Amino acid sequence: MYMKGMSERSAIPGASGGAVRVRFAPSPTGPLHIGSARTALFNWLFARRRGGVFILRIEDTDAARSKEEFEKDIIDGLSWLGLGWDEGPFRQSERGAHYRKYLEELLAKGDAYYCYCTKEELEAQREALLSQGLPPRYGGRCRSLAAPPEGQAPQAIRFKVPATKVEFNDMIRGKVSFDASLFGDIVIAKNLAAPLYNFTVVVDDALMEITHVIRGEDHLSNTPKQILFQRALGFAEPIYAHIPLILNADRSKMSKRFSDTALLSYRRRGYLPAAVVNFLAFLGWHPKGDREVWPADELAKAFDLAGVQAAGAVFDEQKLNWLNREYMKTMPDEEIVRALGPFFARARLGGGAGQGSGGSAGGAMPSSGKLFAERTDDPEFLRKFVAVERSRADTLADFLEHGKFFFALPDYDAALLVPQGGLREEARAALAAAADALAGIDGREFTREAVAAAVTDVITATGGKRGAVLWPLRTALSGLRASPGPVEIMDVLGKEESLRRVRKALDVV
Ligand code: GLU
Repeated sequence: MYMKGMSERSAIPGASGGAVRVRFAPSPTGPLHIGSARTALFNWLFARRRGGVFILRIEDTDAARSKEEFEKDIIDGLSWLGLGWDEGPFRQSERGAHYRKYLEELLAKGDAYYCYCTKEELEAQREALLSQGLPPRYGGRCRSLAAPPEGQAPQAIRFKVPATKVEFNDMIRGKVSFDASLFGDIVIAKNLAAPLYNFTVVVDDALMEITHVIRGEDHLSNTPKQILFQRALGFAEPIYAHIPLILNADRSKMSKRFSDTALLSYRRRGYLPAAVVNFLAFLGWHPKGDREVWPADELAKAFDLAGVQAAGAVFDEQKLNWLNREYMKTMPDEEIVRALGPFFARARLGGGAGQGSGGSAGGAMPSSGKLFAERTDDPEFLRKFVAVERSRADTLADFLEHGKFFFALPDYDAALLVPQGGLREEARAALAAAADALAGIDGREFTREAVAAAVTDVITATGGKRGAVLWPLRTALSGLRASPGPVEIMDVLGKEESLRRVRKALDVV
C-alpha cells in the first residue's frame, strides 16, 4: 500500500515484519513523575521482550513551561532506573521543519484552515452555545471563509474534524470508540512555527515509525484526534495501549498530597532502583504465580502488555518498602556501604533535602565535623555500622536516620539514663562499673566478645540485674530510647568513643 511520507518512513508499523518500535515521550515541564516512569518502564519492557527499539522523545514544544532542568531530571531518572534508550533523545523543539511541512500539507489539501477568531470571540461563541444548552465546541465560523476577514490576523490553525466515528482496538482496553462529531474543529497549531501537542505527536510517531503507542490512560481522549490526523496525512496507525491510572490507597488519582510523585525523590529517600523498577512493573501488571521479587532482566522476559489490567493500580508504599528490604537483603554489607556514599556526602554537606518535591530529610543529620568525617571515611567502621543497622532499615536513608547517633551523640535528658522504676544511684553505679571495665580492655582487643564479657562481669558485680546495667549503658551510648544493644553499639564505636560516651553519662546522671 502506498502511504504518504514513505520517503521518510517505511511501511505500516508491524505489518512489515519489522521490529517493534516504541517511544517514551515526556514533556519536560516538571520533574519526572512516578507514573511517567512507569510508562517508560512498560515501553522499555515491551521493547526488550520483543527485541524492539525504545526511543526517547522530549516533547518540549511548550517553550514557556519546558525547562532544561526537567529534561535533566527525566534523563537522570531513566538512567537511575536503568532504562536505557536505543534512539534519541529527540527534542521536538529541534524538529519544527517537519511539523511545518505537514501543517502546510493539511492547509493545502483543505483539511486544515486558519482561524481568525480571537480569544474574546471564542469566549462569546462558547457562552452562546452554553446558553442554548449546546456543547461548547468550536462552531466552525472560520471553516469556510472565502477570504481572510479584513484587518484580522490568523489566531490558530484548525483541523477540519470530519463527522465520523473513530474506533480503535486498544491492547488493554479492547475496542474503543469516539464520536468525532462532538469534537469541533481542533486547534493543531498557533501558527506554522508553533504546532501543538496532538499534532507533533502524530508527525513524530509516523516519522519515527512507532509501531505501538504505550501511554497513560489520561491520553485516551487524544487518541481519536491523533488518528484523524494520521488518516488525513496518510500515515499508518500505530497500535495503542493505554495503561491504567495510578491511584492513592483511597482510589483517588495519585497526588502529591498522599505520596511523593517525583521519581527521584525515591532515590533521595534511599530506595534501590531495582526495587522501584520491580514495584512500578506491578502497577497494573503481574506475571503468573505469586512470586513478587522480579529483577528487571527477568521482568523483560515475562512482560506481557496484553496482560495489563484496565482498572486503576493502587500505589502501596508498604509494598515498595517490603520490596526494597528484599533487594537490600541480597546486598553484602560492603555493597550497602558503597550505596550509602551519596547519603553520607549529602549529610556531610549538612543537608538531607535535595531539590525538587518530596526532598524529605531522608538522611539529614547534624554533621559533627571531624568525627563525622573520620567515621564516614573509615570502611571498617561503616561495615560494622551497616551490619548492626541493616535489620531495621527499609531504605538506605533509614541507615542514617536510625543510626545517626553512631556519628554524633544526640543531646539527651539525663533522666533517660535511669530505667523505668530504677534508681539514679543504681544507674550511676552501673555506669561507673562499666567505665572501669571498658577502660580495662586493651584497645587492640576491644572486640565484641571482650566487650560482651566485660558487660556480663559488670552485671554480676552490681547485683545481677541485667536491665539495671543494660539500660543506662545503652542510653549512654545512643542517647536514644530505642537503639541496638550496648554491645553491638560499642563494637561499632570502638573503645575511645564508647568510653567517652559512658563517662559523659556518668557526669550528668
Ligand atoms: N508528552 C506527553 C506527556 O508527557 C505524552 C505524549 C504521548 O505519550 O503521546 O504526557
